[in-house]
Amino acid sequence: MSQGASSGGGTAGATADGYEAVIGLEIHVQLSTETKMFCGCRLSFGDEPNIHTCPICLGHPGVLPVPNRRAIEFGLLIAAALDCEVAPRSIFHRKNYFYPDNPKAYQISQFDIPLASDGRLNEVRIHRAHLEEDAAKMIHVGTSGRIQGSDASLVDFNRAGTPLVEIVTEPDLRSGAQVREWGQLLRATIKQLGVSDVNMEEGSLRCDANVSIRPVGSSELGTKTEMKNMNSFRYLERGVEAEIERQKQLLSAGGRVVQETLHFDPSSGELHSLRSKEESHDYRYLPEPDLVPLAPTPEMLEAAAESLPELPAARASRYRDELGIPEAAAQLLSFETEWADFFEGVLAHDEGVEPRVVANWVTGEFAAELRRQGDQELSRSKVSADSLGSLISMVAVGRISHASGKSVLESMVAEGADPRQVVEEQGLEQISDSGELEKIVKSAIEANPGPAEQVRSGNQKAIGALVGAVMKETRGRADGGEVNRLLKKHLDL
Ligand code: ADP
Ligand code: ZN
Ligand code: MG
Repeated sequence: MSQGASSGGGTAGATADGYEAVIGLEIHVQLSTETKMFCGCRLSFGDEPNIHTCPICLGHPGVLPVPNRRAIEFGLLIAAALDCEVAPRSIFHRKNYFYPDNPKAYQISQFDIPLASDGRLNEVRIHRAHLEEDAAKMIHVGTSGRIQGSDASLVDFNRAGTPLVEIVTEPDLRSGAQVREWGQLLRATIKQLGVSDVNMEEGSLRCDANVSIRPVGSSELGTKTEMKNMNSFRYLERGVEAEIERQKQLLSAGGRVVQETLHFDPSSGELHSLRSKEESHDYRYLPEPDLVPLAPTPEMLEAAAESLPELPAARASRYRDELGIPEAAAQLLSFETEWADFFEGVLAHDEGVEPRVVANWVTGEFAAELRRQGDQELSRSKVSADSLGSLISMVAVGRISHASGKSVLESMVAEGADPRQVVEEQGLEQISDSGELEKIVKSAIEANPGPAEQVRSGNQKAIGALVGAVMKETRGRADGGEVNRLLKKHLDL
């Protein structure tokens, strides 16, 4: 579980020095269809290079593209999830540019009439979302690993023609932290739709950030720079923060921001200029003559709307508003579908336990124990939702103490132990016989006359020593509240 998806982050857009950051994102989502966007080649990641190719995705002359129906359906799902308007007839264009990863010397994309526009995900408006094809993958070999300094560049066309949805936001974000949080929400949303692996390290989700600053109170946009494709939202957050800082220093010193594309190096914290930014007219967009307009049928639109699952944003508010789970835990759970599903499984075990208590165990003790025992992933954990549920129930009804619960959890995470069996074998059941507990309490008072006297004469804190003595005697099997009650009774308080 990712830590620190704090709540309410990113609201502090205005900085102390009178500038406000303005950020818009462009996100490329690789769709996890079986085949490519315009041909029947398989999609693959990590296969032997150049085995999934054909004349269409290699850009041979005279071939005809055929759109992938599934990719269009996935695009419509994304459009529905982002609350977008879908164009009745969207148009494919050729975006012309020369580069070794682009064998046709144009990319089929969408231009003035995209698949979807005018949407929203929480606080950020979506400008548009359109379908396009991915370029081939370049592999730069050599000494420096950077394109300028490498000895050779190899091209793997397996990726060429992979279906992409590009999502473009309005410039509604105001800080690096907000970029990270909102980006995580978007990623969770798309993952929940099941249309992409959304793996930033493998490039199935790629996010560019456009950054500018302006004086607080101004509604004009400043000149922006574009930060390319970081492989995690944490790095993107740091890169955006570094760029905001650089622009502030520049403007404060009387300089001007130059429109350019930047790379942020997370290890050194430095920003490098990659190239000056091209304008859309540089691409000589022209309508793709080999494809008819994309006109989704009412049935396709309905199918998309109907198959929308409960999305992370809605799940987070349901957890907060209906289940009374604190904001931070609600976000942690709902942004990661498998944690949310696990949580709901635990919750289903015993409806008598309060959801916020279950959420505390899941995001607190359980997540911590997974981390403590060597950073285990939930998907590979030995603890089933049901067994964690039964542990939490035993604590909730007072059959075992919270402290015993934590020690049982340890063996559950380590060996997949059955909590009921551990409790029985180790004799962890709390002393429910108050006669027995009362005896132990009385002897603790007798054995500790000093603290007992202090408590009697008004020093409440001294009771801790007596509670400790009782807990030691019972090996943690007594309920703390009950021990306190009995101690007070026998100390005549
Ligand atoms: P370009 O033509 O340079 O690609 P677009 O207008 O298409 O620019 O916008 C691309 C992305 O940059 C969008 O996410 C948009 O919200 C964002 N953006 C545009 N102008 C600015 C700006 N001045 N500051 C920050 N982000 C911006
Ligand atoms: Zn192909
Ligand atoms: Mg643009």
